[in-house]
Amino acid sequence: MAKLNIKNAGKYTSNGASEYFTLKDDGDTARVRFLYDDPEGADIDFFLVHQVEIDGKRRYVACNAVDDEGRMHKDDCPLCKAGNRAQEKLFLQLYDEDEDKVKIWERGKNFIPKIVSFINRYGSLVKQAFDIERHGKKGDTGTTYELYALQQDNKTLEDYPEKQELEGTLIIKATVDEMYDMLDGIYKVGNNKEEKQEEAPRRRQESYEEAPRRRRRERSTDNF
Ligand SMILES: [Zn+2]
Repeated sequence: MAKLNIKNAGKYTSNGASEYFTLKDDGDTARVRFLYDDPEGADIDFFLVHQVEIDGKRRYVACNAVDDEGRMHKDDCPLCKAGNRAQEKLFLQLYDEDEDKVKIWERGKNFIPKIVSFINRYGSLVKQAFDIERHGKKGDTGTTYELYALQQDNKTLEDYPEKQELEGTLIIKATVDEMYDMLDGIYKVGNNKEEKQEEAPRRRQESYEEAPRRRRRERSTDNF
């Protein structure tokens, strides 16, 4: 059965690239769902990353200095040792209800208290939509975002397209040797695939069969 409902266009294919969520100018708003349901916030995409220019593009690379217990060992990370300062970043995966798409909202650590207070208040974030409003003109470094929670409707993650595994896609996961290559400017994305096949768990290929399961909004008919 490969005949699709035209209203579901775009739901079955993923181009693999993560689209960033942005609001461009003062007063712009969007209605979104944050795709997290852990009442403790343990599922929030929060990473320690470096910014490295690779093939002329600014990329995020997971810092190698943090061990499984969350302790820092700066000597284990060539990028830290080279003076590239690691940053704590949120990569919030959200469903943009206006555009029918999962996007990633990159936020600095100053945004964490805001998200934590919503988790403390509501538990599961996915249970209600949020309106996000930008305060700050284009280019204003003091721009802030106001979040307004809408009424809970008990939607779950099952109602939305699957989230992405960010490490290994948006955030490059590099070995120590690969980090030295980055510092030497000779690292190439994708070069390491063959060698790493045994050690790196293969990412599950998303096929269209398992892509967005029954996800419908009540107002989807408004688009037509
Ligand atoms: Zn590091």
